Amino acid sequence: MEDLRERTLKDLFSALDGITGPVLECKYYPCHFAGQDCSFCYCPFYPCLNYDMGGELKVTSDGSYVWSCMNCDLIHDREFSENVIFALSRYPRQRLVEEDWVFYSKILQELLYGEELAETLDSSYNLMRAILIDKHCEEFDNTEFLAVKVEEFKIVTVRKIRSIEEAENEIIIPIKERNKFYGFLNDSYVICERI
Ligand code: SF4
Repeated sequence: MEDLRERTLKDLFSALDGITGPVLECKYYPCHFAGQDCSFCYCPFYPCLNYDMGGELKVTSDGSYVWSCMNCDLIHDREFSENVIFALSRYPRQRLVEEDWVFYSKILQELLYGEELAETLDSSYNLMRAILIDKHCEEFDNTEFLAVKVEEFKIVTVRKIRSIEEAENEIIIPIKERNKFYGFLNDSYVICERI
């Protein structure tokens, strides 16, 4: 049986062959909003771990974590889909199959912010700056944040840490509670809110 990443890549290659527009005959249409672009049924950046567009971590009934895109409309925005197709069509398809999560995260950051904002550290990838860049942040005494392990585009573990150095082959992101983000930025613990 095809796994999610295989389906996502098939979907990506079909999108690279041409933008689709709304697919009115799809039984799930509109899964996000009327008039949505359906070039991507599966987001090539999944699981992006970037709360900015509405996605978030959810705990399943068996205690594992998944990234929920229910509240993210981004990949169904026609202009954004066109930009994704343009950005990814620069690469040979074999490379798109072989590349890892960080490669796709960098491309998403370039599309969203014009550059890669995350930092590659010795044994981790710190996505904090990308997520908090446009938030209003204040220093905070002390807080935990998250280290997420992703293998084969699947979330394997999520754990709370208190220092960047604790992360090992993990992606570092803030903890999100309602509209507040708890993290570590510019050598300080911070609490941030959307502006
Ligand atoms: S939250 Fe949006 S951009 Fe991120 S993986 Fe989900 S659909 Fe893609």
